[in-house]
Amino acid sequence: MIVMLVNGITYMHEHTTIDLSEVKKTEDCQLDVFSETVKEYKKLYEKGVRNIVDVTNFGMGRNIPFVQKVAEESGINIIFSTGFYQDEFYPIQVFRETREQLAERMIEEIKKGIKGTEARADIIGEIGTSYNKWTDTERKVFEAVVIAHKETNKPITTHTSIGTLGHEQVAFFKERKVDLNKVVIGHVDLTSDADYILQMLRDGVYVEFDTIGKESYMPDRIRAEILKKIQDAGYIDRVFLSMDITRKSHLEYRDGLGYSFLLDSFIPLLNSYGVTDESIEKMLVKNPLTFMND
Ligand SMILES: [Zn+2]
Repeated sequence: MIVMLVNGITYMHEHTTIDLSEVKKTEDCQLDVFSETVKEYKKLYEKGVRNIVDVTNFGMGRNIPFVQKVAEESGINIIFSTGFYQDEFYPIQVFRETREQLAERMIEEIKKGIKGTEARADIIGEIGTSYNKWTDTERKVFEAVVIAHKETNKPITTHTSIGTLGHEQVAFFKERKVDLNKVVIGHVDLTSDADYILQMLRDGVYVEFDTIGKESYMPDRIRAEILKKIQDAGYIDRVFLSMDITRKSHLEYRDGLGYSFLLDSFIPLLNSYGVTDESIEKMLVKNPLTFMND
């Protein structure tokens, strides 16, 4: 067994540092505040968080030494990723290169290291589709990811835009005979449709409720209602939780919710909707361990 995660709580979809400020046209999307991040990660550590899966990849402003230093100072094990995000954010190379060349880039980051560092990627993603649209280049990226996955057996984490095209992503991996135990479909909590999510779970993938606290996109009480339905249907062992913090204004120092919100506020809300402690333990601790360690 290869151990990627240590025993404890895992946030499965975060960005320790990320820079989407050029495309988004706001400095708020340049999340690069070292001491504030360390402070919040230390608080998470005190609450039992031991792993953060950082899904920042090629062209999203990766800064490996920054993340390594945050890990060192906070004590949290941070997992690195490789891949290409989504059409709107692709650097020019993604349009120019072939699927084989893109696969080669990912394989190198998994086997050798990222941007000349020793840090190796242990997950492929987040790789995305656009809102109700799967562009040709996004399709090429997904094909490249299948090549890299088959070569390395690393798990795959996806981005859906407001939860759309989740079923199409699952079908894509199924057709290419990717082991669905190694695939998690991201941002499904933004669909607000329990049946839509349950269909994916029946197909055999993992799903991520990874935008906890983003009330402007989806109220948390809807997330709680759907998670209760997933628990009742017997699929809670295929769900992860996270917050997908990407802006300075998401952090506590800027009066945002901060990373602790998931544990301090969302978990009690889940309890009040009838989600059991056992289910919560699965989503926070057991499921990520099963998915990442093989
Ligand atoms: Zn993300």
